[in-house]
Amino acid sequence: MAPPEKGQAVLVGAGPGDEGLITVLGKSWLQRADVVIYDHLVNAALNRFAKPGAEIIYAGKKAGHSTLSQDEINSLIVQKAREGKTVVRLKGGDPFIFGRGGEETEALKQAGIPFTVVPGVTSPVGVSAYAGIPLTHRGLASNVSIITGSSEKGDDLPIEWEKIATRSGTLVFLMGARKLPRIVENLVRHGKPASTPVAVVQWGATPRQKTWTGTLETILDSAQEIQPPALTIIGEVVNLKQTVDWYETLPLFGKTVAVTRAGEQSESFMGMLRERGAEPLSAPVIETHPPTDYSPLDAAIAKLESYDGIIFTSVNGVRWFMRRLHEKELDVRELKGLRICAIGSKTERAVRNLGVRVDLVPEKFVAESLLESLGRESVKGKRYLLPRAAVAREILPKELRKLGAEVDVVPAYQTLPPDQLNPDALDRLQSGALDVVTFTSSSTVKNFIDLIGADRKVLLDKTVLACIGPVTAQTARDLGLQVAIEAEEYTVEGLTSALEEYFREK
Ligand code: SAH
Repeated sequence: MAPPEKGQAVLVGAGPGDEGLITVLGKSWLQRADVVIYDHLVNAALNRFAKPGAEIIYAGKKAGHSTLSQDEINSLIVQKAREGKTVVRLKGGDPFIFGRGGEETEALKQAGIPFTVVPGVTSPVGVSAYAGIPLTHRGLASNVSIITGSSEKGDDLPIEWEKIATRSGTLVFLMGARKLPRIVENLVRHGKPASTPVAVVQWGATPRQKTWTGTLETILDSAQEIQPPALTIIGEVVNLKQTVDWYETLPLFGKTVAVTRAGEQSESFMGMLRERGAEPLSAPVIETHPPTDYSPLDAAIAKLESYDGIIFTSVNGVRWFMRRLHEKELDVRELKGLRICAIGSKTERAVRNLGVRVDLVPEKFVAESLLESLGRESVKGKRYLLPRAAVAREILPKELRKLGAEVDVVPAYQTLPPDQLNPDALDRLQSGALDVVTFTSSSTVKNFIDLIGADRKVLLDKTVLACIGPVTAQTARDLGLQVAIEAEEYTVEGLTSALEEYFREK
């Protein structure tokens, strides 16, 4: 569907905290947006789904002080849409639950701009799930009230306390972190038993989630340092947390883990970390680019049939080799007759995804292991093509040649560090708020140090360094770093398990 000429606006609920809580529909609008205007409580990591070149505007409001007033936000949406753009207004939770979505759609209506509303998981629903508190439960609560704990003016909350306090069921207060004493006092004064269970959940559905529990009588003693965003759940269902708790008990819960592998390849790793309760922080230190000179690869492609085998050492090797074949209007048929070797399960999968069978996958995921496997067959006099990164370890071609093989090593791509490290990662590193940095290859270690500057290596002393395997770990040690974790299986799955193990023992 082509966007209307005068543009359009889409109010999208992003859900609370966990970026995975956005809807499929919400994400697809985000991918199509020309402009994204997002709020303070939206997980900013979602912005990476916007297309390259999309304008990303922060319209965050923290309680008390705002970047843009609501009127300014309304005008901004209207103005951008009038320029013919598709504007996604990304809001925490659901747009219509204390989200000012009504006001924004009124402004759009008035301006004659077409709009769509994509509902989101509202925080009472999403956060209570991550807190392990079902809002309704047979025999405990048959209704739920969602109530604002914020007042336009002064201390008086716009709440009919006598009705709320005597109602059965669960009460959820939003925006009430600073008004908690007032809420508690009013509920008790109007008849709610002081023994009623209470939970306050801060930064719910994020690895920073913190929960205080108690009763109306005790909660103020235990929950003094509460800062927004927090919501308060009041009712018997709070006791269910003891059995239902699942998120705060995950093995990596609350740990911030920097992922240094390249952007596209990091998604599955970050997913695994997230599933275990960690907060993955994308801090790519490698970008892949075409090699400075394609002629060696082109020459090899022109005489592919003269080789006995082709050895892929990484997913990137497969991807860039295929990319060049396609640029030359060729395809996998060129590989006919070649013995195909792949190092590592990911590389093997990348080849298989082309619909091509892999003949040899070494048992361990390092070059040495391939040598072992190959060594068992006779490689003497055989010719191998090794398309790979411009700079890579020499051991494989060297040893193969020793065994009498002929090896053409050709650069299919080169890796370069980005201009800078993700500033968020750097900030957290500096403030000691980064629990783990993961390295998945020797070049991630080297580039990381280059990006932070060798003189600031000491920053890493306070952080757990986790390496995917012995070669990467050795590179780190050679650079004077302390490696705390070394995976036994040299894959990101192996690395994830090693992290789990490490923190379980701690
Ligand atoms: N439209 C949002 C609510 C906006 S009002 C929604 O549907 O969820 C902002 C309030 O929501 C916060 O003050 C807090 O009470 C609650 N909230 C939002 N995200 C939260 C989170 N991750 N953890 C705890 N409370 C949250």
